[in-house]
Amino acid sequence: LAQRSAEGIAVYPAGHEQEISGRLAMMGRLRQAIEQGQLEMVCQPKVDMRTRSAFGAEALVRWRDPQLGAIAPSVFIPLAEQGGMISAITEWMVHAAFRQVHDWQRDGNPASLSVNLSAHDIQNPAFIDRIHRLALALAIPDNSIQFELTESALMDDPDTAMQSLARLSDMGFEIWIDDFGTGYSSLSYLQRFPIHAIKIDQSFVRLMSVSSGSSAIVHATIDLGHHLGLYVVAEGVEDQAAWSCLAAQGCDVAQGYFVAKPMPVSQFNNWKTSWNKA
Ligand code: C2E
Ligand code: CA
Ligand code: CA
Ligand code: CA
Repeated sequence: LAQRSAEGIAVYPAGHEQEISGRLAMMGRLRQAIEQGQLEMVCQPKVDMRTRSAFGAEALVRWRDPQLGAIAPSVFIPLAEQGGMISAITEWMVHAAFRQVHDWQRDGNPASLSVNLSAHDIQNPAFIDRIHRLALALAIPDNSIQFELTESALMDDPDTAMQSLARLSDMGFEIWIDDFGTGYSSLSYLQRFPIHAIKIDQSFVRLMSVSSGSSAIVHATIDLGHHLGLYVVAEGVEDQAAWSCLAAQGCDVAQGYFVAKPMPVSQFNNWKTSWNKA
C-alpha cells in the first residue's frame, strides 16, 4: 500500500494514516487514564448452577474518556498490549480486586473475584512477586481469587507460564482457562498446568441452541473437564434455554446476561443478597 514520495519517504493513503494517528492518540489518552487512576472495575456475577447461589464475580475493566466516551475493552486491551501498558492495567485491577475481596471478607460477606491476566503478565516473575506481596499484606483467603488466562497466553512461552502458574497456585489462587476451545492448542497442557476450571467460550454457548456443532462442543467440553477433575464454567448464558441445557449436562458455574450484566462493584452486594434470597 505504501508509495514512495519524491524524497523517498513512505506515503500512506489518507485512511491508513488517520487510523494510525487515531490509535496513537488513543494510546496516549489511555496511558494518561492509567496514570491518573481513571479506570473502573465492574463485576459480573458467577452462579453455582446446582445451588443457584451467587458466590462471586468476574472483574472487568472499564475506561471512559472525557472526550472519546466509553471505549470497549475489546478495543483498548489490544492497544494496551501493543503499547506495553497491559501490565499497568492488570496491576491496577489486581489491586482493586484484592482490596474488594478483603473488604467483603472483613464485612462478613465473602465472595470471590476473577481477574483476567495477559500473556505478558505471566512472563514476568517480578509481577508475580508483587502479587504475592500484596496478597500477604491484605491476607487474601485461599480460593477467593481466580486468575483467568487464555490458552494462547499460556502457549506463548509455556515454560515460563508454567513457573508463574505453579507459584500463583501455591499462593492459594485458582487458575481458570478463559475462552476454552478457541485457542487451537493441544489439550495436553490441561494435565501439565495447575488448572482449576475451564470456561467454555461464549461463542459456543450462544450458538448451542441453533448449531448442533456448538452443542456437541459444549457437551464434550463439560465431559472432558469433569473427567480431568476440573470445574466447568459457561459464559455468555443469555436465556433460560441455555441455562436449562447447561444445567442438564452438569455444567458447574454460569455467567451471562441471563444471570446479570456487569455492574459497579458497589451494587454487587445488594444484587447478591436479593439473588440469593429469590
Ligand atoms: P472475557 O474475559 O471473555 O469477558 C467476558 C466478556 O463477555 C465481557 O465483555 C462481558 O461483559 C461479556 N459478556 C458476559 N456475559 C455475556 C452475555 O451473556 N452475552 C454477551 N453478548 N456478552 C457477555 P467485556 O467486559 O467487554 O470484555 C471483553 C474482553 O476484554 C474480555 O473478554 C477480556 O478478554 C478483556 N478484558 C476485560 N477486562 C479485562 C481486564 O481487566 N484485563 C484484561 N487483560 N482483559 C480484560
Ligand atoms: Ca475472562
Ligand atoms: Ca471469556
Ligand atoms: Ca475473551
